[in-house]
Amino acid sequence: MARIARRAGVRVTTRPTYSLVLPIFNEEAVLPLLFHRLDRVLAQLDGPAEVIMVDDGSTDCSSIILAARAKSDPRYRYIGLSRNFGQQLAMTAGLDAATGDAVILMDADLQDPPEIIHEMIAKWREGFEIVYARRATRAGESRFKLATAKLFYKLMSSLASVDIPQNVGDFRLIDRKALEVFRSMREQDRFVRGMFAWVGFRQTAVLFDSEERAAGETKWPIRKQLRLAMHGLVSFSDTPLRLALWLGAFVSGLAFLYGAFVIVSRLFSSDFVPGWASTIVVVAFLGGANMMLTGILGLYIARIHNEVKRRPLYVVDRTAGFADAETAPRGVDIEERRRRAG
Ligand code: UDP
Ligand code: MG
Repeated sequence: MARIARRAGVRVTTRPTYSLVLPIFNEEAVLPLLFHRLDRVLAQLDGPAEVIMVDDGSTDCSSIILAARAKSDPRYRYIGLSRNFGQQLAMTAGLDAATGDAVILMDADLQDPPEIIHEMIAKWREGFEIVYARRATRAGESRFKLATAKLFYKLMSSLASVDIPQNVGDFRLIDRKALEVFRSMREQDRFVRGMFAWVGFRQTAVLFDSEERAAGETKWPIRKQLRLAMHGLVSFSDTPLRLALWLGAFVSGLAFLYGAFVIVSRLFSSDFVPGWASTIVVVAFLGGANMMLTGILGLYIARIHNEVKRRPLYVVDRTAGFADAETAPRGVDIEERRRRAG
């Protein structure tokens, strides 16, 4: 690994090493173009680079293409997970295996143009630990996706306990120092962007125009997007929990006032008719509020449940292209294994 010295906040590095990490799920259609674009970028870098491709249980020919590439080209490495663990965990597996001084995380579908990496590296050399790529424009995304993304970022920025940058995907450069912190975070429900926001250090953005998917189609149906948004909210905000408290207090207050009103009318009014309707309304309302709040509690408890199982985050099935069998990731959760080994 290259020696890194710091002078007045500027990173002075002689031939730094780079790692590119790409999660890949059924992307056979874009792979040839991806390799072509990556090769061009790698050739212009000022230090040696490795490309870690994490096959997230693809069911098309991606696995074969990726493994073949890793075997024939020493810069490429292949990690095949034992099933589809989802993008967040696939990225984690790749980040665990990355050895570079600077690690670049990006999607494989070329919506994140690899050419931006040069700009990121320039910022990194200025001394920033995390350089994320902010989308100036987003091509080829449905109006619905843009609207829901906007709503999500708004909600996140008003609720979350850390500042998660807006219009930023997972495309970013991460310095070794920040990566080590990330690696020590072994939570099960992962929202990688939020986790990097939590890590802190000096962070900055470079702007880019998000491109259309080069080929194939999105692996993120609405259902999965909603789930990620929900994960993000629940793991980075306790506002829903506090909301439960306030809503409970508010409803109890109303119930108390209503109770007082009922007693007063009973005492001082002669034409008081015991109201079945109002009773049922109150009962139903309280039932509804209760259910909602129990549901919110359930969300958090489900996460605790998930966490206490302490399962490995992912399972590695096959690898190719790693220099020696000792350091190659194998079996379960590379980082956890390293830690246990001391
Ligand atoms: N991906 C993955 N596992 C999944 C779904 C997606 O590794 O279960 C990868 C996918 O191959 C791509 C990246 O994650 O490299 C982003 O996925 P996609 O482009 O489908 O998402 P979108 O850009 O539409 O949000
Ligand atoms: Mg995409």
